[in-house]
Amino acid sequence: MESVPCAGCSTFFVPRNKCQIFCSEPDCQRVRKALWQKQKLATDPEYKEGQRLAQKKWLQNNPDYWKNYRHMNLKKADRNRSLQKIRNMRNRQDQPVGKVSKTIGIAKMDARKSREYNLSGEYWLVPTVAKMDAVKIFITSVPVNSP
Ligand SMILES: [Zn+2]
Repeated sequence: MESVPCAGCSTFFVPRNKCQIFCSEPDCQRVRKALWQKQKLATDPEYKEGQRLAQKKWLQNNPDYWKNYRHMNLKKADRNRSLQKIRNMRNRQDQPVGKVSKTIGIAKMDARKSREYNLSGEYWLVPTVAKMDAVKIFITSVPVNSP
C-alpha cells in the first residue's frame, strides 16, 4: 500500500488498510482514541451513560484526586478558577432580560483612585468573540512622574 500522511503528525506511513489515517505513534494513537471517544459520546447515549457511571465510580474510589491535582498544579487550578468565573459570568449574562444578575456591572474606571488598588499580577485574557485560546498576561504598575 502507498504511504499517506498521518492525520496527527503529518509524517508519511504505510497504512494497514485504506481506513487508517493515523500512524502507530503513541501520541497519534491518543489523538485518534480521543477523537473516537468524542464522537462516540456525542452519538451514543448508552456509551455516554456508561462513561459517566465509570467516572463516578472511579472518583468514589479516588476521592482526593481533584484536591491533590489542584494542590500539585497550582497554576492550572488558578487558571481554571479564572476561566470558571468567566463562564459563570457569561451564563448569567445569557439569562433572559429581567433575570440578569445585578452584581454584574461595568467598572467605573474614572471613579477609581489609581493608588488605591494594585492591579499588578498575572491575568488570563479571554477573547469573548472569536474562538481563540486564552492568553496569560502580566500587569505591572509603572511609576508616574510627578509634575
Ligand atoms: Zn502520526
